[in-house]
Amino acid sequence: MKPGVVIDRRYRDHDMGAWHIESPARIAVLERMLEEAPPVPYLPIPPRPATDEELAWVHERGYIDLIRSTAGKTVPMDGDTAAGPKTWETALLAAGGWLESLDRIMDGAAPNAIALVRPPGHHAEAARAMGFCFFNNAAIGAEHLIRRHGLGRILVVDWDLHHGNGTEQAFYERRDVLYFSTHQSPLYPGTGAVRFFGHGEGFGYNLNIPLFAGKTDADYLRIFEKVLAPVVAEFAPEFILVSAGFDIAAGDPLGGMALTPGGFGLLTESLMAMAGQTAAGRLAVVLEGGYDLPALRDGVGEVLRALAKSDNLPSSGGSSPHSGSPRPSEDPGEASPFSPSLRVELEEPLRMFRRKWDIPDPWVSSP
Ligand SMILES: [Zn+2]
Repeated sequence: MKPGVVIDRRYRDHDMGAWHIESPARIAVLERMLEEAPPVPYLPIPPRPATDEELAWVHERGYIDLIRSTAGKTVPMDGDTAAGPKTWETALLAAGGWLESLDRIMDGAAPNAIALVRPPGHHAEAARAMGFCFFNNAAIGAEHLIRRHGLGRILVVDWDLHHGNGTEQAFYERRDVLYFSTHQSPLYPGTGAVRFFGHGEGFGYNLNIPLFAGKTDADYLRIFEKVLAPVVAEFAPEFILVSAGFDIAAGDPLGGMALTPGGFGLLTESLMAMAGQTAAGRLAVVLEGGYDLPALRDGVGEVLRALAKSDNLPSSGGSSPHSGSPRPSEDPGEASPFSPSLRVELEEPLRMFRRKWDIPDPWVSSP
């Protein structure tokens, strides 16, 4: 089955000025790739605007009205985020297009999907636009799956360079949405410390892994396979949402991470294997950051190639949580070694995460 893709030229209409790095060109380069050299056949999913009710699952009514009131104008929101004349419309179409992709997965039209939308969402808080974000697409998507589709456990994986403060805030005291973020630290927005582990009922359901710059495909894959996978096996999500920032790509102007295009494919395959265990393969990816246009294009291409492999996944209910997961053909550890500091950097997160989750030593290879 073909992966679903949401993209629309109207996602270029939100424009924060010629100087701004979060630019319409990000969508244009992806449109061109899909028109001229699509990496795999895909199911196009037409977007629709999100409704006020859907936005209000995550955002305060007064804030929604504030963004609505910017229609037709240019209004600065914070130091690096401005609403332009068409931002309101575009942001509605971003959230709504993302929800359409979730519906197509739930109704069986696509096994998985990627929503190539602007503006991004993971910094948007209940009543605050920031960090190029207006409405929190990932959070609205999780609410949609819970409220409209009756799902009980959603995993949100945020591999963007930056911490998704808005998504963390939305579910900080809840146990039905597990938020897992890797992010470069120190860096904007300054949140995302390990000790923010959730609160009340949500204690243990907010997992932050701050990382120094320079992390490779092998580093991220180890984190996913050895730290995230055991948590996922225990949490047993019914759907996996991905806040996919391509600003962890080597060469991104905002970051210092070193992912290759193939690395994005490997991370996607790793999450697909986890989704195959408890979520019937249901996985949806939404575009967050990513500012080096060729790296963005190539990274998205590899994610799509990975999503197209859903037919090769083992069906759920395998004998052991991790056996039978499709593995990359080569051990990326051979080609791209772990960063020497990764072991130390994971000590504090592991100590915290083990207060709730059973995570074996990631440095002992299993038999
Ligand atoms: Zn980012």
